[in-house]
Amino acid sequence: MTNFTPAAALDAADPLALFRREFHIPPGPDGQPCAYFCGNSLGLMPVAARAAVEQEFVDWQRLGVEGHFHGTSPWLHYHEALAEPTARLVGARPLEVVVMNNLTVNLHLLMVSFYRPTASRFVILMEGGAFPSDQYALESQARLHGLAPAAAIVELLPRPGEHTLRTADILARIAELGDTLAVVLLGGVNYYTGQAFDMAAITAAGHAAGATVGFDLAHAAGNLELHLHDWNVDFACWCSYKYLNSGPGGTSGVFVHERHAHRPELLRLAGWWGHDPSDRFEMKKGFRPMPGAAGWQLSNAQIFPMAIHRASLAIIDRAGGMAALRRKSEALTARLEAHLRGLGLPATALEIITPPDPAQRGCQLSVLVPERGRELFDHLAAQGVLADWREPNVIRLAPVPLYNSFADVDRAGAAVRSFFNE
Ligand SMILES: *Cc1c(COP(=O)(O)O)cnc(C)c1O
Repeated sequence: MTNFTPAAALDAADPLALFRREFHIPPGPDGQPCAYFCGNSLGLMPVAARAAVEQEFVDWQRLGVEGHFHGTSPWLHYHEALAEPTARLVGARPLEVVVMNNLTVNLHLLMVSFYRPTASRFVILMEGGAFPSDQYALESQARLHGLAPAAAIVELLPRPGEHTLRTADILARIAELGDTLAVVLLGGVNYYTGQAFDMAAITAAGHAAGATVGFDLAHAAGNLELHLHDWNVDFACWCSYKYLNSGPGGTSGVFVHERHAHRPELLRLAGWWGHDPSDRFEMKKGFRPMPGAAGWQLSNAQIFPMAIHRASLAIIDRAGGMAALRRKSEALTARLEAHLRGLGLPATALEIITPPDPAQRGCQLSVLVPERGRELFDHLAAQGVLADWREPNVIRLAPVPLYNSFADVDRAGAAVRSFFNE
């Protein structure tokens, strides 16, 4: 560790260091705060979450149904308060985003509108080994149109001997599928490898082929700087409980590009909360969607998860937004990578499968440990380093800029070192 700037110096100079105090950090085996590297799976609880929910309890207790109109943040308009911070988060206009439901539900709602296969153009292009919920969702979307998943879904696979996809290969595949390609649906960051995709280039290539392009941003929202509007992405959705720290099963975000905002004819599954609010309560026949992403809402807002989400998004704004988070994130991940590479282990013992190029990853490093993976994972846990285990042999470590410190990263590095030196 001789070439490393001491972690204490980096933490002292870190403009985000104080945000660590705004989160509850679970204790490790020694009762002291653990080094939490699972923010990619479940982000930590903001201290502000409890008061945010408590406020809604108070309003409900005090006002009953009148909370819709006279609550501190009237429930009738609750989702509107989330539009601005959500738009900042993903590089969108407020009209282009809405918060509602859960991620897989939203993926289905968007696919219903944006996957309209014809006899000649019916292919969905996705990552091989995508998160299982996405695989199941897209298989069932194909079946919904009477198509066999094996015929409709084309998967992108790394070249033999490689772990991640090359952008050039993705773009070539899109061009090759050409006018058979209906939808490209990739993760913004692959959950397993941690690879971040070039969403701008993929979107441009998809459009050049005449296809629609969407992203599942479960591992990208709150992790990468996103510019969904400028990148021309057609649609996207993400969950809020990973890098957005909004609690287990928390609500989900949706993006629909402005160019689809005023297309009421676009097929969709409808519900009253997506209906024009000017006569929503007249309870009349004939659905007229609100413009923008809000027109995909079905149900009245889930106030309790949204209250947590609102408090969480406010923390990101106070921290200076994604640009500030990303600066620290790159430094944390680079340091973790340097610790692991510094061990000088052969790939048969430990291999980082996440791309080394910072532009092709978020904060997460996925570490392939072919022989003793589970043993290493348990060793880390015993040292108070909480990582994430993925069968059959991958450990994922996600240092998160809002609450992880450079000292946390050094703890992880030292714990891995002590395992291999034992
Ligand atoms: C976490 C994650 C999910 C989880 O879906 P839910 O509907 O929130 O349970 C889905 N897809 C991806 C890519 C994920 O990373």
